[in-house]
Amino acid sequence: MQLIFEKSVKGRRGFRFGTCDVPVKAQVPVKYARKDDAPLPEVSELDAVRHYTHLSQQNFSIDTHFYPLGSCTMKYNPKFTETIARLAGFTDLHPLLPQLASGEKLTQGALQVLYELEQWMCEITGFCAFTLQPLAGAHGELTGIMLMAAYHKAKGNTKKKYVIIPDSAHGTNPASAAVAGYETISIPSNKDGGMDLEALKSAISNEVAGLMMTVPSTYGVFESNIEEIARLIHSVDGIMYYDGANLNAVLGRFRPGDVGFDVMHINTHKTFTTPHGGGGPGAGPVGVNAKLEKFLPISRVIKKPDGTYALNYDYPDSIGYIASFYGNFALLVRAYAYMLMLGQEGLQQTTDHAVLNANYIMTKLKKHYKLCFDRLCMHETVFCAAFQAQRGVRAIDVAKFLIDQKIHPPTVYFPISVPEAIMIEPTETESKQTMDHFIQKMIEADELSKTNPLAFKEFPKTMPISRPDEVKAARDVKTSYFR
Ligand SMILES: *Cc1c(COP(=O)(O)O)cnc(C)c1O
Repeated sequence: MQLIFEKSVKGRRGFRFGTCDVPVKAQVPVKYARKDDAPLPEVSELDAVRHYTHLSQQNFSIDTHFYPLGSCTMKYNPKFTETIARLAGFTDLHPLLPQLASGEKLTQGALQVLYELEQWMCEITGFCAFTLQPLAGAHGELTGIMLMAAYHKAKGNTKKKYVIIPDSAHGTNPASAAVAGYETISIPSNKDGGMDLEALKSAISNEVAGLMMTVPSTYGVFESNIEEIARLIHSVDGIMYYDGANLNAVLGRFRPGDVGFDVMHINTHKTFTTPHGGGGPGAGPVGVNAKLEKFLPISRVIKKPDGTYALNYDYPDSIGYIASFYGNFALLVRAYAYMLMLGQEGLQQTTDHAVLNANYIMTKLKKHYKLCFDRLCMHETVFCAAFQAQRGVRAIDVAKFLIDQKIHPPTVYFPISVPEAIMIEPTETESKQTMDHFIQKMIEADELSKTNPLAFKEFPKTMPISRPDEVKAARDVKTSYFR
């Protein structure tokens, strides 16, 4: 494809500035002023529109392709929630408005949305309070670990040094614990994909601050010993952290707050809709039980006896501010609208379909690909390309094959403890026909690995770039035409 600079023709214009009709007060100091013209492409509006439209068509997106990227919940986000988030009553609010004397009155609607969303999240998870402020899942984890640290500090317990994390946890869990100043202890998994309880018992000591568990784990399976694990952690006054990024696996079926967890986060951008990927935007609300409530960040939304809403900053034990203003408000509005639209029954169906779809794919593909754990899965299923690798075809080769079939590849090489992992999350929004097409293509890849394994080395054939050096592509990004 031609770059936009290569389309440049001297003197071609796509815009015209009007004459400046306001007095120019400030001049750029001479030493900062540009001496030569900026090297910009000289193109027409049409050239620019075509250039960017073509660029956008080289991407995969939910609106254009099936996107079974495990752990990321790349589901279809209804346009309805986009419309609600764009209502002027929300978008025109200035973030400093609630600080003004008259502001509280003008922001009642927005505060009500936040207040009710917190209440609903409490009901869904079994916790007693939420903060909506964290700006991503990992930020929610950090906030949760800071609450854990505040709890131990308030009790004068200075010995707490370790956070225990099973090897099936999401990669952000150990990172968040480390950023918050803890050392981590990794616990291996047993043959069913659960935590090895003997290894856990030998890691328990008075220096354990808590445990972080991703449920369902990154193996896509549900931990069946939660109550025993909670008992062990609580016996040394540790805090139980639930990574609920993928709440679409358990909505209406299971509440972490009921079985011994003390704190959790939710990824609203995964479970409660917001288009995401490529680094944002996100929202990672954190829920707590009574043990941790007084440490929650400020501000908090309260409902006054007269039924009006207000922001309250008066929490002396709070860990303080963790985000500017009130979190990613527009994402929270989307989550609110989505919950309101689906209701209790609809949210439960979301989970039922997410789990059913993943099990459908698991059942159909397990004759062709090696299953990581042969048991019912939750919202995602983890295979590995062990059979194919014996024929010289690796997980990455299957992924590149799928790109030519116009299917976004599943997550590969994660979880890292599974060699040649292929982690598939169809999500609840895909139809049986779409999944059948995907299953068919996965079977074709397996067949081709038997008849012509060398063919895979050329995939993808349909993309402008075929096989970049993935490390170099991520670390040495070329963002400028001029070097
Ligand atoms: C996506 C995810 C995270 C991280 O969330 P971000 O919003 O990307 O920071 C954490 N844990 C699990 C299980 C996830 O799937």
